[in-house]
Amino acid sequence: MLSYKNILDKQAKIKSNELSLTENVQYFLSRINDQKDINAFNFIFEDVLDDAKVVEEKIHDGTAGKLAGMVIAVKDVLSIKDRPLACSSNILKGFKSIYSATSVQKLIDEDALIIGKTNCDEFAMGSSNENSAFGNVLNPVDKTRVPGGSSGGSAAAVAAGFCDVALGTDTGGSIRQPASFCGVFGLKPTYGRVSRYGLTAFASSFDSIGAFANNVEDIAAVMNVMSGKDDLDSTSINEPTPEFNIESNISRKIKVGIPQEYFSEGLNDEVKKSIEDYISDISSDKVEFIDIHLKHNDYAIATYYILTTAEASANLSRYDGVRFGYRHENPEDLNEMYTLTRSEGFGDEVKRRIMLGTYVLSSGYYDAYYRKAQKVRRLIKEDFTNAFEQVDIILTPTSPFTAFKIGEKSSDPMQMYLSDIYTTSINLAGIPAINIPIGFDSNDLPIGVQLIANQFEENLLLQTVKFFNKS
Ligand code: GLN
Repeated sequence: MLSYKNILDKQAKIKSNELSLTENVQYFLSRINDQKDINAFNFIFEDVLDDAKVVEEKIHDGTAGKLAGMVIAVKDVLSIKDRPLACSSNILKGFKSIYSATSVQKLIDEDALIIGKTNCDEFAMGSSNENSAFGNVLNPVDKTRVPGGSSGGSAAAVAAGFCDVALGTDTGGSIRQPASFCGVFGLKPTYGRVSRYGLTAFASSFDSIGAFANNVEDIAAVMNVMSGKDDLDSTSINEPTPEFNIESNISRKIKVGIPQEYFSEGLNDEVKKSIEDYISDISSDKVEFIDIHLKHNDYAIATYYILTTAEASANLSRYDGVRFGYRHENPEDLNEMYTLTRSEGFGDEVKRRIMLGTYVLSSGYYDAYYRKAQKVRRLIKEDFTNAFEQVDIILTPTSPFTAFKIGEKSSDPMQMYLSDIYTTSINLAGIPAINIPIGFDSNDLPIGVQLIANQFEENLLLQTVKFFNKS
């Protein structure tokens, strides 16, 4: 088992020869190979051992970077130079990236070790990791169940002890929901906090890169390195990056909003009870709970699926058989080449979204769907702006239920989309949120709570975890 608490502890133990980094990486690789059935990885980088030797020496010399020795798995929608990038799709099978995502490059520059690329739903579209051309991922807590999605492989890799940290992306819940299903921490930062350069776009005005770990210290460490303005992504924010840390400097009573709309119909009784117990265990000396309303939340899923499919239909038009990956061979003509490449290369869920997105953007329906959804997006954002005038943080369930059985919802897209009921509004508003594992249901499946903060307030989320625990 792992004998360190977080990256700082790991580095100290390597330095004092209590821990060998090479052995640690070997341990992770053999664990991944012993539990291949989990299928958390699309690609495993065995040559990470060579990097480990170099970094181990640097740690001993005192020349190592901030993340030296941290073993990181990267969701297979992020580019790493000269490594395969498939986005779990047949359409990109065989494709290799020609440059690295800024987020990943920054980690590598600080001597993090990349152990492989994790499985996910195709182009990050899904809530169960069942939409993957690389097969589904098993939840390490209960292998008959899904790990959540779309970053299912990343959540499973952390939960199964295959790495220290995993990167995920969150467009509508894809970090927080799998973190909740697998019982780990998962942070979705403010939109624009981390550069999207080198991230395969799903819905560009929603996509955020964040991290999974078994402790919040490691998430803070990764965020410190990944965040910041990047000239290669014009939507990255020009805000100074604070020093992310988990030591609470909260010296006053904080106000936590409980939105009534998130605790009503559809919420599983055991999840509800567990969150109520969690709330009542937090000392009232530290926290004042306030009932609030986010009254447009009922429209979040519809708004999310109109806007994200519209953006996806445009973003995915680039996979035409000419520029990337798969191409249908020997077509009759160019049009047939496009049609057959896309029909054969994309999976059903991706095709469903391209069709939906093309429809809502079409001239006859643009005003009725796309333009209207943009207006509702603003109302949802305003609900949060108003709420944060009253409270510091908002506390909700992350998911209405715990991990479901493989196959249980895959034939009914509407049921699957309902998994996102508590998470999509956060992406519509562009604000940060974290999943905190808080307990288990009667089937021993993890339950998670979601903390939401105003934009740029990730530190408050990270620090609240410890602040709550001290009660
Ligand atoms: N489950 C949501 C969807 O399928 C969220 C996906 C994501 O955040 N990438 O769109």
